[in-house]
Amino acid sequence: MADQLIRGTAADNGIRLVGVISTKLTEEARQRHKLSYVATAALGRTMASALLLASSLKKQDARINLRIKGDGPLGGLFVDAGPDGRVRGYVNNPGVELPPNAKGKLDVGGAVGKGFLYAVKDLGYGHPYSSTVELVSGEIGDDVTHYLSTSEQTPSALMLGVFVGADGVAAAGGILLQVLPKAARDESLVAKLESRLGELSGFTPLLRQGKSLQDIFQDLLGDEGLEIFPETQLVRFDCGCTFDRMMGALKLLGQDELKDMIETDGGAEATCNFCNEVYHADVDHLSRLIEELGA
Ligand SMILES: [Zn+2]
Repeated sequence: MADQLIRGTAADNGIRLVGVISTKLTEEARQRHKLSYVATAALGRTMASALLLASSLKKQDARINLRIKGDGPLGGLFVDAGPDGRVRGYVNNPGVELPPNAKGKLDVGGAVGKGFLYAVKDLGYGHPYSSTVELVSGEIGDDVTHYLSTSEQTPSALMLGVFVGADGVAAAGGILLQVLPKAARDESLVAKLESRLGELSGFTPLLRQGKSLQDIFQDLLGDEGLEIFPETQLVRFDCGCTFDRMMGALKLLGQDELKDMIETDGGAEATCNFCNEVYHADVDHLSRLIEELGA
């Protein structure tokens, strides 16, 4: 199934639903950054979260950044996503692997460790909003839910999953259910939602059974006035970096450094942090930058 995001409502607009399938983009991130199993799970969960959060932003050029800084061996990770469905991200130590946790799952919490989640929301008007919350478990889902309940004051249930097999990412994505204030007073609705989510065995098993996001929403809230919006947003790993932008970054090194690169290396290589793309600048490119700096 293509990577995609769908949205909907239920309970007379009292519940907001968003779901994302991010299997292919998580596999792309795994290959680009040569991520270990646990790093794939950590970054995959964070990318799915960021896409789910970004889907409620109105302007197409709005962005949300999630930065997770923990004291575990992954050394932190960063994700940038927008309502246009573009996401990118990286892990500081992509090769770190840990033994499975007590539940036999990838030990994302152990790899992330204790620390903080920093969220920056740029609504597209030039005044980004930032907030910081302490990590609850480092498992990402708990941490983002904690951010939503404290910083955004919206009771939310988030289910994330990344299944990595021997051939790469077989399933990834998640769903976010948010109870809006008027419905939050209906305790029976909230309890029903919690118990139904509790019955699910996880997100990736459902995908691997062949269920669509629509099927999953139908199973969860089909009897609660579920309305799925007709638009499907395609989502993808897309960094947006370009050769020109990377040359701009090289230019910041200054004339002396650029001259040295020409003399010692006969060119330069610049790697984009976000997507690991390598850009090669030859002597002509570097000489042009020196000329521009001299002008
Ligand atoms: Zn890039």
